[in-house]
Amino acid sequence: MAGDLKKVEDAFTTASGREVTLQIWVEEENLDKTDHAMASLKRAMRWDEQAYGREYDLDLFMIVAVNDFNMGAMENKGLNIFNSAAVLTHPHTATDVAFQRVESIVAHEYFHNWSGNRVTCRDWFQLSLKEGFTVFRDQCFSADTNSPAVKRIEDVAFFRTAQFAEDAGPTAHPVRPDHYIEIGNFYTLTIYEKGAEVVRMLANLVGEEAFRRGADRYFERFDGQAVTIEDFVDCMAEASGLDLSQFMHWYSQAGTPEIDAFGEYDYAKAEYRLILRQRTPATPDQPDKQPLHIPVRLGLVGTKSGRDLPLTLDGEALGSDAVIHLREAEQEFLFTDVSEAPVPSLLRGFSAPVKLRFPYGREGPGLPAGQRLRRLQPLGFGPAPGHAGPGRPDRCPSQRRREGDGPAGHRGLPRPARGRARGSCGAGRDDHPAQRGLHRRAAAAGGRRCHPRRPGVHASRAGHGTAR
Ligand SMILES: [Zn+2]
Repeated sequence: MAGDLKKVEDAFTTASGREVTLQIWVEEENLDKTDHAMASLKRAMRWDEQAYGREYDLDLFMIVAVNDFNMGAMENKGLNIFNSAAVLTHPHTATDVAFQRVESIVAHEYFHNWSGNRVTCRDWFQLSLKEGFTVFRDQCFSADTNSPAVKRIEDVAFFRTAQFAEDAGPTAHPVRPDHYIEIGNFYTLTIYEKGAEVVRMLANLVGEEAFRRGADRYFERFDGQAVTIEDFVDCMAEASGLDLSQFMHWYSQAGTPEIDAFGEYDYAKAEYRLILRQRTPATPDQPDKQPLHIPVRLGLVGTKSGRDLPLTLDGEALGSDAVIHLREAEQEFLFTDVSEAPVPSLLRGFSAPVKLRFPYGREGPGLPAGQRLRRLQPLGFGPAPGHAGPGRPDRCPSQRRREGDGPAGHRGLPRPARGRARGSCGAGRDDHPAQRGLHRRAAAAGGRRCHPRRPGVHASRAGHGTAR
């Protein structure tokens, strides 16, 4: 890196007591706009120590931010290179959103030091190994640092708007594509954002402690190596004892799964029968799909009392908030000792990137006349905003500890998002036509996006790969 640049310098003491010099190099006119990036970097370094036990390994960490870098950000070891738009902020000229964006990107690139650099990808097909995982890590960092609920709502709204569209269109592709002509075209929302959702599902499936053990195992076992997505998932399977072989379809199948839910309450037996039917639509090159392993987090809410109902499934008491495993194309779950008819439309949503629908109501046998469950209307797709609050499935593992695991927050459940059009809840941040043009130009030039969701955040063509 060569240029007429000035630096601001700070220091960070690692958990083990080592002193690391931190430098941000910018053009002189930008020297007064680096405070927030430096503070964000230090927060990210501390967070990675606490959430993942990952310390920075060198004595010097540098960020270079230049006005004329034509991409966005790139995680070169010890020397992250940024477009100044992704680093500089000043209270007089930047909004809160800009401050949070800088914090998130600085953290993302820093986190690559472990998930991307120390452990990197064997080949480009494994791109989501580092990007999906690192987006998940930066999402959790931002959630822990700011408002978890706001962060999750923003991410889900954006995901549903932009990635669902990609998954339903002619360029739909799996999180791990099996062929490509130009990998520069694969810096996509699917690789990044859906990849992050898949990692989030893994975290939900195996639980907080096993996820951390799996991550520790992954970093320790593969430090200094170039590995595959299987290596990552295997660590989670070993740490949890769960069979994740079916889960791998999430990496190989494109398209957004659709799940139809049918609920039926039997007054006489006090049983609630829930039938979930999953289907992934055909996508280019993939006419037939296998059923996915989908973690479904749910609770039932009483029609009369409005209260959360305790769940008993297969004789096991699960509390009022449980994760069930959907593995079949159609699967039935029979909840017993359900004291009153639940409101099926308040099923809490899926901790998975799926579309959820209630196409038909089901009338329970033995339902007294006049008390028939009303016919259900189709819901909005996917988890409704608000599901990410305390007690929601979408918490990052590190949030759990802070929030506690009580059944709080149910009263604040949003009404069913009836009639809300898909994608109506957030404008795609990457949707600006000029921005799309930039991406196309970047791709045409062999350039690579590091952050498809963040306008202007790209990595340069010069070895975004971190193969060591
Ligand atoms: Zn990245």
